[in-house]
Amino acid sequence: KKGLRIGMIAGDGIGRVVLPAAQRVLQNVPGIPTPTFVNLDAGFEHFQKTGVALPPATVQTLKNECTAAMFGAVSSPSHKVAGYSSPIVALRKEMDLYANVRPVKSVQGTEGRDVDMTIVRENTECLYIKQETIEDTPQGKVARATRQISERASTRIGRMSFEIALAAAEVKKQRGGNYGWQGPPTVTIVHKSNVLSITDGLFRESVRAVAGDYPGVVVEEQIVDSLVYRLFREPEKLSVLCCPNLYGDIVSDGGAALVGSLGLVPSVNVGDNFIMGEPVHGSAPDIADRVPSIANPIASIRSAALMLEFMGYVEPAAKIYDAVDDAIRKGFVTPDLGGKMSTDEVTEEILRNL
Ligand code: NAD
Ligand code: MN
Repeated sequence: KKGLRIGMIAGDGIGRVVLPAAQRVLQNVPGIPTPTFVNLDAGFEHFQKTGVALPPATVQTLKNECTAAMFGAVSSPSHKVAGYSSPIVALRKEMDLYANVRPVKSVQGTEGRDVDMTIVRENTECLYIKQETIEDTPQGKVARATRQISERASTRIGRMSFEIALAAAEVKKQRGGNYGWQGPPTVTIVHKSNVLSITDGLFRESVRAVAGDYPGVVVEEQIVDSLVYRLFREPEKLSVLCCPNLYGDIVSDGGAALVGSLGLVPSVNVGDNFIMGEPVHGSAPDIADRVPSIANPIASIRSAALMLEFMGYVEPAAKIYDAVDDAIRKGFVTPDLGGKMSTDEVTEEILRNL
């Protein structure tokens, strides 16, 4: 592997327009080695053409050639399609990207609430192992799903959460700012172990078991339903949320609503050897065919910044975050945020601000 070679998996729908926007920003941000890009296939349209959702070549190229990747979005029908299963779920597993880190932050100087939280979502197990069965019984059909929680996966997502709480506190100290989370580094373990005492119980205990290695971090916990209540009532009081896969998926879309749009919220899939940026949103089929495109590119652009940040390029990432915040403050926003701008107009303003 040489230099900064980034695999670009645009996927379906608005993935095809927001990923090129992120690429333009990566090509223009100062302070990183000149990146090269390789476009890779995956998704539902690719499946319809070829019968394969995630071509082995995509995985091989990522593993052999790329230092990091960006993933756009893929469409996954809600009904069962024979032979199809979501390539993003498979990719996270193939590349062992065990954490999905999702910062949800409001922009200082804009209306709305002061939100500054990071959802750390376990990315490999829980109900997403997709072991489902269905059987006919005299009383009708019964479907079952296996939910897997392991000590290993829970421990490493716990460690990741503690590290992120410490890193966030450090960034806050350096950059100042008087909005959002003001307290000491804090991790809230999200679970439902009052009911699911074995599975969620293991998650909770495993995270707590490594807490002792991070004496600077306050550990809290909250049952997932009351966590959602707090998410609406007092999001300012939440910082790092350590979640099993399904709760993390759900809570982060809720977090996106708090800051105005799914089109704003980035994520990064993190493994020990690979980083893949990915907006939290999906392929948005309702707006995917609009010309010119009105898809908000910010979630993808911020995901590119997060990718750089997790590779150690902290300053260039901060430049991108600031350029995005400036664009939002100046009103360069797409219709999901009440604006009139197109994808390109927002992207070009961000490029000017870099
Ligand atoms: P979605 O995130 O695609 O869209 C939800 C709503 O938010 C829509 O109204 C959409 O227009 C809007 N929206 C999302 N991103 C936006 C952006 N960047 N700019 C402006 N508006 C934006 O979720 P959905 O509608 O539930 O799912 C659509 C498809 O996406 C489904 O096939 C689903 O399986 C897939 N999906 C994929 C991923 C992924 O690839 N990681 C994640 C979620 C959903
Ligand atoms: Mn989701």
